[in-house]
Parts: sequence; C-alpha cells; structure tokens
Amino acid sequence: MTLQYHMDSHDGTYKKEFQSKVTAVYPGIVELEETAFYHLGGGQPPDKGTLNWKDGESVVYDVRKKNRIRHMVEGDLPEVGDSVEGKLNWNRRYTHMRMHTSQHLVSAIVSDLYGADTVGNQIGSDKSRIDFKPLKLNMNEIDDLIDLTNEYIDKDICVNISEADRSDLEGNPEIRSSMSSGLWKLLPKSVTRLRVISIGEIDVCPCAGTHVRSLKEIGKVEFVKRDNKGAGKQRLTYTLNN
Ligand SMILES: [Zn+2]
Repeated sequence: MTLQYHMDSHDGTYKKEFQSKVTAVYPGIVELEETAFYHLGGGQPPDKGTLNWKDGESVVYDVRKKNRIRHMVEGDLPEVGDSVEGKLNWNRRYTHMRMHTSQHLVSAIVSDLYGADTVGNQIGSDKSRIDFKPLKLNMNEIDDLIDLTNEYIDKDICVNISEADRSDLEGNPEIRSSMSSGLWKLLPKSVTRLRVISIGEIDVCPCAGTHVRSLKEIGKVEFVKRDNKGAGKQRLTYTLNN
C-alpha cells in the first residue's frame, strides 16, 4: 500500500516535493512506495505535477485510488526500484485545501443553523459548490451565512487531523450529519478506525481530503450563486478571495 503523506499530519499535507521508490509500472501508470499526490475522491480533484529521476521525467495529469494509488503519467516511464522525485503543482493543490476546508466550515454552519445535510459537493480551483437538503435560503439568509463564515475565518481557528474509532463516531450527535458522515457509514465493517477533520469546536467530520492548518489561510469566502434543484435541494456555489 502506498503511504500517503497527507493522511497523518499537516506537515505531510504541506509537502510539495518528495522522494520515493517506484514499486510498479504499467503503460501510463506509476505506483510509488509513498506519495504526496492526492487522488481523486471526496469531491476533491486529484493533484497534478511531475516525477523526475536520473534519466527521465513524466507529467502526472491524474491520480486515482483503487486499492493502490495510481499516478497517471505522460512522458517517460521509470523502472521498478528507481528513486523518483515527485513535485506537486502546489498552487492548484493549496487552493483545493482552502476550498475543501471552507466546504467543511460552510456545511457545519448550515447544519447548525438550518439542520440541512450536505448531500453532495464539488471542490474546484475557481469555484466550489455544496448541495444541501432540505434547504431553501433567500438572499438575505445567504448574505448572513457568508458573513458568519468569514467571521469564523477571521478568528483563525485551528484545523486538526486525528483518528477515531468508528464505534465512537456512529450515533454521536457531535458528528456533523453530512454527505461525508453518510458515506463513511457505508464503508465495510472491517474499517474500524477513521480519519477525522475537526475545526476548533465548530465541526467534526470524517474525511480523507487535504485541509489547511488554520481557517485564516482560506482568505475570504465569496458567494457566487444559488440553484434550487427541486426536492428541497439547494446548491450554493462560492469562490475564494485572498
Ligand atoms: Zn472533506
């Protein structure tokens, strides 16, 4: 199994470059012993970047996880056992970290104020969206929501990565009722420990994505649009401003 730096710590999450041994190579695919590349999942897009080694270079254009982490590459292919240097497109990845953490924050506030679940989300570099249900906010309520979100961001609250026993999370009212919490309940029974992202006292959410250390790094959340999708579902789209 590939060791994923971002899982255990913020230090690992902020790794922009790393060294690793190549464990497997297929046409257009490289597998590594360890990686800083985030794979597509949880509404967060995969990282992009490069792999370099003594006599070659390839571009990582996609990263997927199916039992193992697969770096989808264009260019040269290393050999099994080679030592490669991986380098992330950091601007893209850091924006996803800020976007993903804002998604947790907005989802937590909406859950708290309106009791609405997050039933879908798509993190992007330019804008991100969250689907809530049931929810039908008017523009005044959305303005208040965004103001409150930015007040929390200004407080510079810490974001923590930890692990928890699944049995302690299930049925715990402190755990945000959201898509993530709905999805982790579908994980096989053999999964008994889960990675948890907490934002101060505001939110606790099982999640395997990448997040910033502190809310202040988000900058400022700006509302883009709302779409009422029917069946009580409302989609809110937002962007970030430094
Ligand atoms: Zn998440």
